[in-house]
Amino acid sequence: MKTIPFKNSYFDLGSAFYQSITPSSVRNPQLIVYNETLGDELGLAETALNASAGVSIFAGNQVPEGAAPLAMAYSGHQFGQFNPNLGDGRAILLGQIVTPSGHSKDLHLKGTGQTAFSRNGDGRAALGPVLREYLVSEAMARLGVPTTRALAAVTTGEKVIRDRVLPGAIITRVAASFVRIGTFEHFRARGDQASLLRLADYVIEHHYPDLKESVNPYLSLLESVIEGQASLIARWMQLGFIHGVMNTDNMSILCETIDYGPCAFLDHYTHDQVFSSIDHYGRYAYNNQPKIGLWNLSRFAECLLDLIDQDTAVAVDIAKDRLEGFVHSYQKHWLTGMRAKLGLHSEYDQDQGLIEELLDIMANDEADFTQTFYQLSSLGLEPSNDQLMLALFDDAEAITHWIAKWRQRLRHEGTADRERHTLMHQVNPAYIPRNHLIEAAIRAAEDSGDFSVFHALRQVLQKPYEHQPGAEAYLQPPQPHQIVHRTFCGT
Ligand code: AMP
Ligand code: MG
Repeated sequence: MKTIPFKNSYFDLGSAFYQSITPSSVRNPQLIVYNETLGDELGLAETALNASAGVSIFAGNQVPEGAAPLAMAYSGHQFGQFNPNLGDGRAILLGQIVTPSGHSKDLHLKGTGQTAFSRNGDGRAALGPVLREYLVSEAMARLGVPTTRALAAVTTGEKVIRDRVLPGAIITRVAASFVRIGTFEHFRARGDQASLLRLADYVIEHHYPDLKESVNPYLSLLESVIEGQASLIARWMQLGFIHGVMNTDNMSILCETIDYGPCAFLDHYTHDQVFSSIDHYGRYAYNNQPKIGLWNLSRFAECLLDLIDQDTAVAVDIAKDRLEGFVHSYQKHWLTGMRAKLGLHSEYDQDQGLIEELLDIMANDEADFTQTFYQLSSLGLEPSNDQLMLALFDDAEAITHWIAKWRQRLRHEGTADRERHTLMHQVNPAYIPRNHLIEAAIRAAEDSGDFSVFHALRQVLQKPYEHQPGAEAYLQPPQPHQIVHRTFCGT
């Protein structure tokens, strides 16, 4: 058996950054799923982490050779309030591995028992949230959105107590890094400038090596994270994704979607949609996500001020300027992506108005977000077979008028129907992890130990942009009785 290529660079940062800890064992671990494609990509085939051979590792019952497990320390702004004492309360970083393509990846187990950061939590995860994170993170990857990945999930054979007694589970996830904005805030709050510098150097060294050459690498780091988050959040918006808990401790320095909790996708389009049961004031509503992204990035910029310039006033001015850049960058990414969703590749001033008009009509007529763009992708330049599209809207009048305008605009593109259909279907998914489909997968697993619904959904979501004969049920918006109104983080 090959050894797992651990290098444990985070461990080398020293004990201010984490608590060294061995995962607690569980009674009877059983494999739910192993992501073979990802495992192979990471070079884990023929190692102790391969499929069923890895169950005891995925369950935390065995620490793989070469790993130096630890719970990362961090702080963070939760719903706008600073909490200085967070950290991995129920997750353990096994270490960094080097993939065959030379990239460093963090291997993380979530649900492996209490750590120094657990406060009153049990350090465990319930099956439902584990299945949700597996499905949504892997779907995001296939949709082309930067995200942590899911390598495996196991049941523990133990119960966890939430509002009721639930089966316990553990997910193994993989990220470029689990360093968050909150990790930087942790050292800033403690006035530990030396550790802050070590952290920034670590991130640059391992994840943004090109920045080492720049005149001011720390400013370049801020710029890169601003740009990466602008692009990421634009991708979320284009897919109708709502993260649900955009606390600064849930925002990656590597600009991947991390910490899937009460996340959800829009069904019918509502610009200020909230699903999360803990988001009482709509802070993390769909349309607030870009604004919150900027707010979080401002907290990140504060951490870097002393590294950007010794003169704080100068550093503040520079940081403000770059943060203003977020708005332009986000807008550019959003507009480019939305144009593509409409089949537009040339740029006209009125495009933004055309996009916004469509969104307004969708909101008024309760049109399904994903289906609207999916059906639009099959419309021709000449009116014919428009019924499937029109049927998505409560009232056909406004959308009929809009489609006529859109067809006018398409005449400036000069693309043939077939070519445009292909391009549009590459950006407008047929299948997303719809809330009611996830709910059905969780119900079957939780209530009757039946994972077939989960596996079937997982399969469909591997090819979100391809029409899959026989998978029609997965295209459909929920029936009224299937609508999920609230999602829970399940912690
Ligand atoms: P989250 O909302 O998942 O981002 O979690 C916020 C913080 O609470 C993180 O520091 C988690 O590690 C911690 N936490 C969440 N759930 C638990 C749990 N069941 N036991 C211990 N800590 C937890
Ligand atoms: Mg978190």
